[in-house]
Amino acid sequence: MNYILDSYFGFGDNIYHIPFVHKLSQQGEVFIYTPFPELFQFQNVFCMKPVTNLKLQLKNMQGNGLYSHCHKPNGQRIRFNYGADLKRMTVIQSFEKVVPLDGEFFFEFTPERSTKVEEILERVKASGKKLCVIRLPSIRKEWPNANRNGKMEYFQLCINALKDSYYFVSVGDIGNGEEFDGTEPQGIDEHRDRHNVNHLDIWDVMDLVNRSDFVLSIQCNMIPICQVLEKKAFIIHGGYVPHWPLSDPRLYQIGYVEPEPFCFCVNRIREHVCKKDIPEDKILSRLKEALWN
Ligand SMILES: [Zn+2]
Repeated sequence: MNYILDSYFGFGDNIYHIPFVHKLSQQGEVFIYTPFPELFQFQNVFCMKPVTNLKLQLKNMQGNGLYSHCHKPNGQRIRFNYGADLKRMTVIQSFEKVVPLDGEFFFEFTPERSTKVEEILERVKASGKKLCVIRLPSIRKEWPNANRNGKMEYFQLCINALKDSYYFVSVGDIGNGEEFDGTEPQGIDEHRDRHNVNHLDIWDVMDLVNRSDFVLSIQCNMIPICQVLEKKAFIIHGGYVPHWPLSDPRLYQIGYVEPEPFCFCVNRIREHVCKKDIPEDKILSRLKEALWN
């Protein structure tokens, strides 16, 4: 049996597709419409260009030599849709309703080495500190969602707690119509989050995270990146989607903190602003746990 997979285009969602595409590829040929063919370099998998207007996706597809041109997709059509399941099961469990894994769980990716990252690591070394990659709360133009951002002041709190032993490099897509959700914190050693010569692309970020000691982030694609690379991280949640649907027990477990009670408002985002308060001592104790585990 062959399969045609036409599913999510988000980078994080594509990372979560890895075990399922790998599983299907053992049963037949898989044709996947994906903006990120780099993630699916398995035997029997043929990547096809999807139609999308998303910026990061278009940039990655442009001139990308990993697409198949000589194959015509055929087979059973498969589509994942975790939207309705999110309140009851993890994203991975929702995908598994469509493609059973039968106890298998292939979840690996090895980033290519980036010269930009080599240069950053030289400066980290010179600082005598460890590397912390940080993704700050921002509002994306394409998919605005302030509700899931943790509060910016909590990022400053964590930076202050770590800055004597960590060198901070910020990543993300700020400055190209995107804005920080709050005042940019002080204490960032390198700003690599702006859309200019210093900006790191998604594969540079993968390599940077892979060679980091710690990651501090909002709820975004940093979660699946840290899970697939098995990197220590601390996620500060706001509202919208809590941590548990994103941390299936089969995945590498990363640290996090979230408001209590949590505003799980995934399907009614426009109606209100989530309450995101977390006691500072709780943030700092959860941060310590994330560092030690
Ligand atoms: Zn809410």
